[in-house]
Amino acid sequence: MKKRIGIIGGGAAGLFAACQLKRLKGAGDIEVTLIEKNSIPGKKLILTGHGRCNITNRKEVNRLKEGYHDADKFLYPALKEFGPEDTVSFFENGIGLKVKEEENNRIFPVCDSAVTVRDRLVSYISDSTKTVCDAVVKDIRKTNGFEVDTSKGKFTFDQVILSCGGMSFPKTGSTGDSYRFAEELGHTVAPARGALAPLKAEGKDKSFCKSLSGVTVNAGVSLFSEGRKAASKEGGVLFADFGLTGPAIMEISREVPKDIRGKDVYIELDLVPSMKDEEFEKELLDLIGKHADTKITTLLSGFVPQSAATEIAARAGAEGLYAQGFTKENRKNVCRETKHLRICLAEAPDINTAYVTRGGVSLKEVDRKTMESKIVPGLYIIGEALDIDGISGGYNLQACMSEAYLASKNILSSD
Ligand SMILES: Cc1cc2nc3c(=O)[nH]c(=O)nc-3n(C[C@H](O)[C@H](O)[C@H](O)COP(=O)(O)OP(=O)(O)OC[C@H]3O[C@@H](n4cnc5c(N)ncnc54)[C@H](O)[C@@H]3O)c2cc1C
Repeated sequence: MKKRIGIIGGGAAGLFAACQLKRLKGAGDIEVTLIEKNSIPGKKLILTGHGRCNITNRKEVNRLKEGYHDADKFLYPALKEFGPEDTVSFFENGIGLKVKEEENNRIFPVCDSAVTVRDRLVSYISDSTKTVCDAVVKDIRKTNGFEVDTSKGKFTFDQVILSCGGMSFPKTGSTGDSYRFAEELGHTVAPARGALAPLKAEGKDKSFCKSLSGVTVNAGVSLFSEGRKAASKEGGVLFADFGLTGPAIMEISREVPKDIRGKDVYIELDLVPSMKDEEFEKELLDLIGKHADTKITTLLSGFVPQSAATEIAARAGAEGLYAQGFTKENRKNVCRETKHLRICLAEAPDINTAYVTRGGVSLKEVDRKTMESKIVPGLYIIGEALDIDGISGGYNLQACMSEAYLASKNILSSD
């Protein structure tokens, strides 16, 4: 009798698992069913990489694993067995999509189309997988195998891959059902919160960000919570109407406490990260001495974009001042606002706009060499359902790929 395999959730991880089961199957006698609640799989996948799909990151595995925070050790065997080069090879030789490398080792399909990626994956599995769409899974029960209750009826499987995603961008279908199913089956789930998310500023700091909306800077970014530096990073920051976004902000967002109401939580921006505080102040002092007839905003615009110079001078109470009238206090204030620009946060990252979910099924309860649950034999858990979130740059899809590979390989080799 054929082994019946159920894939619960047809997002990136579920689609990749169906692909790997087909690719590795050989003479294996299996019947694969993928159940997806949307009318078509991969609704989140088509949004990835701003519609271009950053499929992986071509770093050496020892460096790549550093992008997964505390999950680095857990993911290592998966990345080692199926790493970026394997992903590239599958895309080029398996689904026929040539890839290209961009800045910071990010890999995209040459066609720059996430929709094409999704369509090629769906087409690749069309002869090997029964895809049941518009079917909401309501319940997964462990019997001899598994009974899966859906809005389109009951299914029975010998093994199940749980890939219903996390909770971020819920309009794409990932509404946290993975966590409910896993908990009902006996797993521990770390509370979900947003990661890789933009950050909303509060009150006057929101108005400040709005006045610079659209301006991008390279900045040192530090997160402070209740007087303690919680994290720091350097990179691109984009001012927006609501607050701050851009790569460095998105990456630091996972460290913002889950509930910041009544707490003193802020981002400190260093707009001239290439200079130490003393160096910057000395440089400014020299310029003030040499250019007495020049406005302070003009001098500052040698370090930051003109619009930022104007807003920083205003924040420092030095708007319209010329170098010649500049006091020591004026100078200290301008230096503070340039090198330690405080943006108070209004709330923790919003799960609705976060790119990934921090939290999920405890990694202690999943075998990192197979992705099989240590609690429920025959249950495999992959993708954002797990307590893994990677940095941006293709890390999250690569994790899905590597985990899907291990789960598929193990399913095919098990009795
Ligand atoms: C805007 C955006 C851009 C991104 N860009 C990138 C990028 O360029 N590179 C990168 O590496 N990562 C990127 N990511 C992250 C990446 O998309 C996710 O990490 C990845 O999609 C997670 O895959 P998953 O299969 O675990 O979950 P999902 O892709 O969320 O898939 C879960 C699937 O399960 C289905 N489902 C849920 N509950 C049920 C149920 N009860 N019954 C049936 N089906 C159900 C959902 O409808 C969904 O299709 C991006 C994320 C976002 C939001």
